[in-house]
Amino acid sequence: MAVGRLFIVSAPSGAGKSTVIRHLLEQDLVPAGSLELSVSHTTRLPRKGEQNGREYHFVDRADFQEMVRDDQFLEWAEVFGNLYGTSRRAVEPRLREGIDVLLEIDVEGARQVLERFPEACGVFLLPPSYQELERRLRHRALDSPQVIDRRLAVSSWEIRRYESYDYVIVNRDAAYAAQALAAAILEKRHRLSSQRDEVLEILRGFPAEECQSPQ
Ligand code: 5GP
Repeated sequence: MAVGRLFIVSAPSGAGKSTVIRHLLEQDLVPAGSLELSVSHTTRLPRKGEQNGREYHFVDRADFQEMVRDDQFLEWAEVFGNLYGTSRRAVEPRLREGIDVLLEIDVEGARQVLERFPEACGVFLLPPSYQELERRLRHRALDSPQVIDRRLAVSSWEIRRYESYDYVIVNRDAAYAAQALAAAILEKRHRLSSQRDEVLEILRGFPAEECQSPQ
């Protein structure tokens, strides 16, 4: 069985990454069960409505740093003063089972993953404009005004990292952006180089003696 692939989605905070990914998974825009979203670890406090083990594994700094020392992370980074990381346990078993894994991580984490897995596919989600990004961040009111200001200040730096990614999607409409993300995933899956093992398996079922051209 072929191993799964890694897909990375990065975007500045407020660009709508989580909504787009939720859309992708809930609407089964890729075959159900073929793609799993990795649940990261973070030292950030849970926001209202977030559940431990669903949005994130919420841990304290000491536990996170112990995991770093034990080499339990595929990548980790400090983002807005909190630590975030993708554990090997969230990813490697799925890849071995042939399931693709989606990482929703920042640009620094993406850089680390691409260094280790150059064949991973990166998708960068852009907001339509700075004004729209600011409107979304303030409107959703998930963070304090100070945190929002910090996120906006960092967005100008993050957004300039788009060239390290394979695909760019401007998120004007979440449903469309989810379709575009699905298209990128399916395009990658259906390249000849990704299909060879499956094709050879099917070809083995065709009798060789009847192998003749129609002319
Ligand atoms: P938030 O606090 O809004 O959930 O996430 C803040 C930022 O951290 C987002 O850009 C998000 O993509 C990023 N992030 C979430 N999980 C991880 C992770 O495991 N590793 C890295 N490097 N960034 C992450």
